Amino acid sequence: MKAVVFEEHGGTEVLSYTDIPEPEPGPYEVLIEVKAAGANFNDIWARRGMPGMKVIFPHVSGSDVSGVVAALGSEVTGTGFGSSSLQVGDEVVVHPGLSCRTCDFCVTGQEFFCRQFRIWGFQSGPNDGGHSEYVTMPAVNVLPKPSNLSHEEAASMPLVLETAWRMLVSRAKVQPGEHVLIWGGVGGLGTMAIQICRMFGANPIPVVGSAQKVAKAEQLGAVNVIDRSSQDVVAEVKAITGKAGADIVFEHSGQETWPTSMAALRWGGRLVVCGASTGFEAVTDLRFLWNKQQNLLGSHLSNKAELSAALRAVEAGSIKPVIDRVLPLSDVASGQQLMEDLQVQGKVVYVP
Ligand SMILES: [Zn+2]
Repeated sequence: MKAVVFEEHGGTEVLSYTDIPEPEPGPYEVLIEVKAAGANFNDIWARRGMPGMKVIFPHVSGSDVSGVVAALGSEVTGTGFGSSSLQVGDEVVVHPGLSCRTCDFCVTGQEFFCRQFRIWGFQSGPNDGGHSEYVTMPAVNVLPKPSNLSHEEAASMPLVLETAWRMLVSRAKVQPGEHVLIWGGVGGLGTMAIQICRMFGANPIPVVGSAQKVAKAEQLGAVNVIDRSSQDVVAEVKAITGKAGADIVFEHSGQETWPTSMAALRWGGRLVVCGASTGFEAVTDLRFLWNKQQNLLGSHLSNKAELSAALRAVEAGSIKPVIDRVLPLSDVASGQQLMEDLQVQGKVVYVP
């Protein structure tokens, strides 16, 4: 089968669209014929290499797929797939959080604390990720594809959807009427965050990097959009919130934006962070943290039930996929280049 493989770190030139053996499902796994696969920044981190993270070579990236069940492992009974049983031919998406499923953390819905927790298609391997024609997946990680979405649409959602859902709903506990400052407003995470805020009656304040991206954010229902190329983020937040500051800041940028995030955060507000794409060493002035009694919340992916809840909101039409473009699987390199150049609004999707 075809897959996009790399065997060393580097630029997009290390990606090779080539033949690898088709995987076989273990007893508790399913084989999925990939109809569409999503792109994430994790794919780029794995390719470039990250300090302290060992990528298993040869590596196939890709943590989001939508496809059709092609075979079931011998012990797959269908439990864990809602009320119906999992069968060959079912249209499915996957929850990319792999864990032992039996430890105290796993059985209490805290699988991200499991000692064996890994993000599939990022920390798994050799090969193994979604940028290929077939994948195997533990049956417990498989969920029904929302029936109102195409495979391309469905493949664009789970990782960013469940990450944004956990950040805003489970960790920051977003409330109606609250103001939520969202970095990367028209990126994969940002487009989900805007829609989740609106669904909960909050006011999303996306930050974008150009006038053209302002229009995209408005199209998703944001009323107050900040263009950081021409506006001062803190001053704008103060103006929008009647000088109070944001109730919640949605952070995944890190070092470059952190001081601004802290300055834009209301007294007693919550800052929730799931990543640091511009660097890990963010500076916090502790005097402000204690005086303003602000709350810093970490967040990482979500558990399966949170993805399941978010997908119900998708099926109900409250959250919609946002696709920038669909590329052939052989074009993963151009997709990653567009993302690195910040030329993408929403998600890139690959089709085998
Ligand atoms: Zn576990």
